[in-house]
Amino acid sequence: MTTAELTEMTELLVQYLQKNHFIQFDLKAVLFDMDGVLYDSMPAHDKSWQQTMDEMGLKHLPHEFYLQEGKIGQSTIDAVFQRNLHRDATDEEVKKIYARKTELFQQYNTGELIPGAIEILKYVQTKGLKPVLVTGSGQPSLLNRLEIHFPGVFTSETMVTAFDVQQGKPHPESYLRGLQKGGNLKPNQAIVIENAPLGTESAVGAGIFTIAVNTGPLPDSVLSEAGASIVFDSMGTLLETMPEIVRIIQTIRL
Ligand code: CA
Repeated sequence: MTTAELTEMTELLVQYLQKNHFIQFDLKAVLFDMDGVLYDSMPAHDKSWQQTMDEMGLKHLPHEFYLQEGKIGQSTIDAVFQRNLHRDATDEEVKKIYARKTELFQQYNTGELIPGAIEILKYVQTKGLKPVLVTGSGQPSLLNRLEIHFPGVFTSETMVTAFDVQQGKPHPESYLRGLQKGGNLKPNQAIVIENAPLGTESAVGAGIFTIAVNTGPLPDSVLSEAGASIVFDSMGTLLETMPEIVRIIQTIRL
């Protein structure tokens, strides 16, 4: 990092502390979103949503499913129904559409990881910080799959999934639960890595310093406007910068 970048980073962390009435960080955990942060699964989610709606003859907006990322399935479906049919979907319609979308997702998802995801998790662990997963996903095979790709990183005690929350992102509940699972932490004892505007909103709503990694097609401004303190263009860039971020977080005092 250049001196100017270091100064800017320090300034962003100071702004966070001031805004949230803390005098310092006490970093214990890093909260990771899953789709688009650890797994390169968003293109498959987007494609399956689009195809499902096309098959139903329902119009969708450009990048709609990236903008809605993190919402529970029903909210995403209702938004499309309201626009096309001026009503919410019935429970039966939601079930049918979600089943079709899930079927297509399983077909399209490559299971590929976001480059740098493994390395950043390793880095977090070597610094003695606890990685916590905060996802709106509710796939039963999630834990097994995570154990295969990221062995020894997450346990059911350090994961927030669809089964742990009443309200999906952008409600802060997901990240508040993440703080609990991190060890009943206060917001200044964690940072969040997110890729989506609603996820960012959820994390910022929980009062946590939020770093966005823009791995999708949306402009960076969408993530800044959602409240991300920093937006990186890739996990690789975050990985390069992470030691400096952690160093400043551990030394900064107001
Ligand atoms: Ca995500």
